[in-house]
Amino acid sequence: MKFELTILGSGSSVPTSDRNSTAQVLNVLERYFLIDCAEATQHQLRRFHVPYNKIGHIFISHLHGDHYFGLLGFLSTLSMQGRKGEMHIYADVRLQEIMACQSRVLGSRFNFPLVFHPLSRQEETIYEDKVVTVTSFPLKHHYETPVCGFLFREKKRERTIRKEEAAAWKVPIAFMQYLKQGADFITPDGEIVSNRRLTLDPPPSRSYAYMTDTLYRERFATYVSGVDLLYHEATYSKVDERLAKEGYHSTAEQAACLAQEAGAGKLLLGHFSARYTDLSGLLAEAQAIFPNTFLCHDGEVFGIPPVKRNF
Ligand SMILES: [Zn+2]
Repeated sequence: MKFELTILGSGSSVPTSDRNSTAQVLNVLERYFLIDCAEATQHQLRRFHVPYNKIGHIFISHLHGDHYFGLLGFLSTLSMQGRKGEMHIYADVRLQEIMACQSRVLGSRFNFPLVFHPLSRQEETIYEDKVVTVTSFPLKHHYETPVCGFLFREKKRERTIRKEEAAAWKVPIAFMQYLKQGADFITPDGEIVSNRRLTLDPPPSRSYAYMTDTLYRERFATYVSGVDLLYHEATYSKVDERLAKEGYHSTAEQAACLAQEAGAGKLLLGHFSARYTDLSGLLAEAQAIFPNTFLCHDGEVFGIPPVKRNF
């Protein structure tokens, strides 16, 4: 029952020898969601052994190169490898224009259907299936560049059947699905057996939020209230707060404030400026406010276990 995040790139606009620009893969019960797709993301997918053919949904936070320049290359590779299944892309509507232009100039197209889902400037549910919902919400970056954050929230899971109890009460196989949904069982003699006797509570639902590139705004915490795992950009140290403001980015300290205001379980810092070779200062300033903070490194995997606040 995996809910697992793989960091493909922890750097910002300029990649370094050990930090690629931004991309991540979230695996929610074998659904693979690609979040941003910087240049060389397909190399990172191979390098870290991600089964990239299983990716069916790609979420692009905004149209700056360090978040989408790898998309065309990745899709081209999938096409050459014979992919047939739909690929859903959630992004600024202008990405469709960019891709149409590329296709027109080259006179080529992908061998699989691309389905575009334009992001709006409002908080909204953009994807839903039987186990997870994805919400997008607006952040604050350059004026001409709308940016969205994403929240992945596992749906409430079914109750777990106590097999020995169910067998003892001779519950028919066909009734098991109703037990999982909370129904009581009535025996052929009319005796009511409470659901609590036959099932256990399901494990708590898990959640992950992704917030980059953005100025710090306290009100953004409401979008991700109570999230288990929060990724927040920390492009700069508080020492360079002026640069953060000029570039519409956040400091590590501001990321920690946001995590604290949201009541997050755990904070991951990323999107580091190439100017920092040693990130220990950024980690320290964030941990001073939000102790359960970690730095992201390329290739690192962060799991969210199916128990609450047990990191
Ligand atoms: Zn960026």
